[in-house]
Amino acid sequence: MDPIPAASYARISEKVAARDKVADQHAQNESHAAARGYRIVARYTDDGISALGHKERPDFERMLADAEAGAFAVIVATEEERLARNVEEKLELHTACEVAGVVWDTARDGYVDPATDSGEFMSTVRAAMGRIESKRKARRQRDASDERAADGLPTARPGYGYRREGSRDVIVEAEAVVIREAARRVLDGNSLRGIATDFNARGIPSPRTAELVHKAHREKTEYPTPIPWQGITLRQLIRRPSLAGLRTHRGKVVGNFDPKAHPAILNEDVHTRLEALLTDPSRAQGTGGRTPVHLLSGLAVCGRCGGRIKRLPGWTPKPGQKSKPVKAAYACGDCHKVRRIQEPVDQFVTEVILRRLEQPDAGQLFSQGDEGAAQEARNAIEVIDARLATAADQFAEGVLTGDQLRRITERLRADRTAHERTVSESMPARVPVNVVGPQARQTWAALHIDSQRAIIDTLAEVVIDPQGSGKPFDPDLIRIVWRA
Ligand SMILES: [Zn+2]
Repeated sequence: MDPIPAASYARISEKVAARDKVADQHAQNESHAAARGYRIVARYTDDGISALGHKERPDFERMLADAEAGAFAVIVATEEERLARNVEEKLELHTACEVAGVVWDTARDGYVDPATDSGEFMSTVRAAMGRIESKRKARRQRDASDERAADGLPTARPGYGYRREGSRDVIVEAEAVVIREAARRVLDGNSLRGIATDFNARGIPSPRTAELVHKAHREKTEYPTPIPWQGITLRQLIRRPSLAGLRTHRGKVVGNFDPKAHPAILNEDVHTRLEALLTDPSRAQGTGGRTPVHLLSGLAVCGRCGGRIKRLPGWTPKPGQKSKPVKAAYACGDCHKVRRIQEPVDQFVTEVILRRLEQPDAGQLFSQGDEGAAQEARNAIEVIDARLATAADQFAEGVLTGDQLRRITERLRADRTAHERTVSESMPARVPVNVVGPQARQTWAALHIDSQRAIIDTLAEVVIDPQGSGKPFDPDLIRIVWRA
């Protein structure tokens, strides 16, 4: 078997960066890679940059972009702290690696697959511990920023959507349009990851790219390689209270900006609904941290042992590289004896499901109720959630007493339970009405993968039976077992 292509990453955190330390890290990575059966195909090095400060790590960003492009399957470093020392960077790493389907493996902290709960848990714990150390160093700087806030001066940069002119913030309309579209689509139930993917496909520069472009323009240097949108950055962006004209200090809303000094891009109602939606614990963490991005991963089962099917990333060699390309595949995570190239499986299962959905009686597949009443109930729940969130904030700010909060919460929760019952009595929340009948194909194509998966899961169980390696795809060995 060909060795798995891997990236070697080295970073020195102190200013007294000695060249041999970098060389040393790459050498350690080489031997770790050899021991694990990886082959280093690319090296990335960042020098003398603190992980807590938001200083640039150009090679790290470049590595994440290459990971998304499928240049390698594993990132190797001496320890996890080299890859990310604070929680934000860890989230960025997690999201980028999970989207790209790559894992990281460090000599000190071992193997982490961001697609699994335990992988995410352990590495997040390590990042949190690193953060405690770095926090102490940051405290002094924060005290200085507090003084400026007390004087009523803006303490933060105006951020994406605005530019500062003198002491005022002015809306950058091209960016405001992007923010409004993202907010509307989140409220319509689109996933953050789906929106990020769409923005990338449309070539809309991410906030980070926009920032680097401005900088390059100012300093008359070369334009940067674009840094793609990600679910996590999109979430941080649209939750910013300043977009709704709200002033914050140390993460808490303390009042409104003078609209002349800082106009709003989103109205306050939209902001409240976004907050309620994105902080709802029942929603899979807004980053899409654990949301599968493939049609059947974790959904299909192994026909040999009944284990869950995982998705293995593919790999495309770059010009000049000798290794053969590897196609993405589904494989049993338990017995490891069942494996199939992903693409024909996805195509076949989609086709079978669509043919079933197009049949005239397909509506009965989903237990039908009164769809109009269900939609009304969903709207009511949305309003209740927004109210619950507002009440909690008011309690935190001392506007409501604990007793008042409890009374409000109890009443709202009782209403919510009643509405939930109405919804659950009708079609499953993720199944749009038009996905059954003649428009099924068209509706399906526009659905987010999460919804497509939910529909497949409601209708059938997909079983992948063993097949000898090297044989052409055999649809008879993909069983679709209808539920009900
Ligand atoms: Zn199996």
